[in-house]
Amino acid sequence: MKPLIAGNWKMHLNRADAAALAGELVRSLPAPLEYADVALFPPFPYIADVLGAVADSDIEVGAQNMHEADRGAFTGEVSGPMLLDVGATRVLVGHSERRHVFGESDGATNQKIKAALGHDIAPTLCVGEQLEEREAGQTEAVVERQLRAGLDGVSAERANTVTVAYEPVWAIGTGLTASPEQAGEVHAFIRGLLIDIWGDAGARVRILYGGSVKPANASALLKTPEIGGVLVGGASLTTNLFLPIIRAAE
Ligand code: PEP
Repeated sequence: MKPLIAGNWKMHLNRADAAALAGELVRSLPAPLEYADVALFPPFPYIADVLGAVADSDIEVGAQNMHEADRGAFTGEVSGPMLLDVGATRVLVGHSERRHVFGESDGATNQKIKAALGHDIAPTLCVGEQLEEREAGQTEAVVERQLRAGLDGVSAERANTVTVAYEPVWAIGTGLTASPEQAGEVHAFIRGLLIDIWGDAGARVRILYGGSVKPANASALLKTPEIGGVLVGGASLTTNLFLPIIRAAE
């Protein structure tokens, strides 16, 4: 399977810059893009503009979060049917900023994963330990808890629609990157868990690495066994950083 190179734009850019960045990526990449899948996760209000900008390309567009209910009195939230309505086909679930800034629980991530799958929106479940947890030797326990809880009740038939992203919280937006060895160890652990949960289907799930991925470290990370792509925050906001990361997958 091709590696997935995903850009999480968080709460950055404006409408014109978001469309311009997406358009520049389309013009700069070969079509079809044989060596990688590319997905962009713009802020909600720009999803439609970015979809317009990538219309004639293979670039996919998703949302950074969604609510598990289809509709209702949930001020400030966005539902799966609304994402589908504008054309988003992917969603990030349980990003560390959702968990640690907005207090999203493992149970909430599970409901969101199930709701996304129910609408045929492909979820990326993000997991990862905080610095204190790594230092206390709890990395595997934290990742296992988040993974098993997030995927609870999801059948093996749906495994091919799910992506997992390992994002050590201490490496997100800090400039600190997990070394390929550190990332590879956790990725191998996650692979074992996915096979335990889903059998053979768990062997085919893409596991992305995220946390200060830059042009300088992308290639080594992408060559590491079990790293099936990267989830990129800061370096996905400019073509001069994001394009070399995409090309590192070649
Ligand atoms: C992220 O937002 O998922 C991320 C990994 O951010 P950064 O690349 O900026 O560390």
